[in-house]
Amino acid sequence: MSIQMVDLKGQYLKISNEINDSIQEVIDSTAFINGPKVKEFAQNLEAYVGVKHVIPCANGTDALQVAFMALDLNPGDEVIVPCFTYVATAEVIALLGLVPILVDVDPKTFQIDTRAFESAITDKTKAVVPVHLFGQCADMETILSISNQHNIYVVEDTAQAIGAHYTLGSETRGAGTMGHFGTTSFFPSKNLGCYGDGGAIFTNDDALAEKARMICNHGQKKKYHHSVVGVNSRLDTIQAAVLDVKLKYLDEYNAARQKVAEVYDAAFANHPALEIPFRDIKSTHVFHQYTLKINGLDRDHLKQHLADNGIPSMVYYPVPLNRQEAYKRVGNFPITDDLCTRVLSLPMSTELTINQQQKVIETLLNFA
Ligand SMILES: *Cc1c(COP(=O)(O)O)cnc(C)c1O
Repeated sequence: MSIQMVDLKGQYLKISNEINDSIQEVIDSTAFINGPKVKEFAQNLEAYVGVKHVIPCANGTDALQVAFMALDLNPGDEVIVPCFTYVATAEVIALLGLVPILVDVDPKTFQIDTRAFESAITDKTKAVVPVHLFGQCADMETILSISNQHNIYVVEDTAQAIGAHYTLGSETRGAGTMGHFGTTSFFPSKNLGCYGDGGAIFTNDDALAEKARMICNHGQKKKYHHSVVGVNSRLDTIQAAVLDVKLKYLDEYNAARQKVAEVYDAAFANHPALEIPFRDIKSTHVFHQYTLKINGLDRDHLKQHLADNGIPSMVYYPVPLNRQEAYKRVGNFPITDDLCTRVLSLPMSTELTINQQQKVIETLLNFA
């Protein structure tokens, strides 16, 4: 088997009977839209992440969009986002006529820099989006405290960190359950991925949950009575059927990722050119990505050397938001600009064998 960044086929083969039965059940029922599996999965996910409401929707970008629609913001209101993230985070803000305000990230954790966040707050700031990048939570304690003080909403983008836990005061909280909203994606390669598109919104607030549910359903609570402007954003029943099976394995999958990370850590620790992922003691890390910071070596040559030896690797993200045509901003984002030239994500799969991993490590160390 060749080495892959993620191995969705291998993962499927281990649970294929359960998955096939679950999908077949939906086909037999023909309840393709809003079938009973959708509700069942949402309830199981509520229990798993520890949140009062899970509202399934069509994808992680919609989850963000619906969350922002439910917050009742006005055009021109500002929303603070890290510039080292996937585009979806800023995209929905701009789409809704809100203004994404980009801030730099922390060089060690890659998460939103809380001091940059605080200094970016103005009278127009209405919300902040901590993105729990690569599988570890942002500094939620500081973010929640600053947000409380300034009365701004917190929408956690937890597309990469489902199943991570954060120590907030004396409590342990699931990623995505600490802000007004949490949003997640079930894109196939995410830690909990379906076999197509899918997403969900989390909230502990009953009123916000009702609003978000309505918005996902054309702004209606009662059929053909549309009280707010909504969208059509649903999780297909077949995807819910896949997710409900895979949710039972999520802890196992995340543990497999952590094990892969530990082997990489041990191999690269103390190497002068390779900086292993920083572990925040307040957060568990579910390693959506295992991302090295390359010091004093040509990252792109290293990537080519790996590719020449049959080893895939990825750069998340090669072009930050502050350098995107659609979002570029005047301002200084030195940490993000630097990270984009130095980060390298290695194969991180629930199915990666130790032999495959040794090959990745050997090949990388041959270059470094
Ligand atoms: C994947 C991802 C999204 C978007 O999810 P889709 O389901 O692809 O729309 C949003 N934010 C982050 C940080 C992501 O990684």
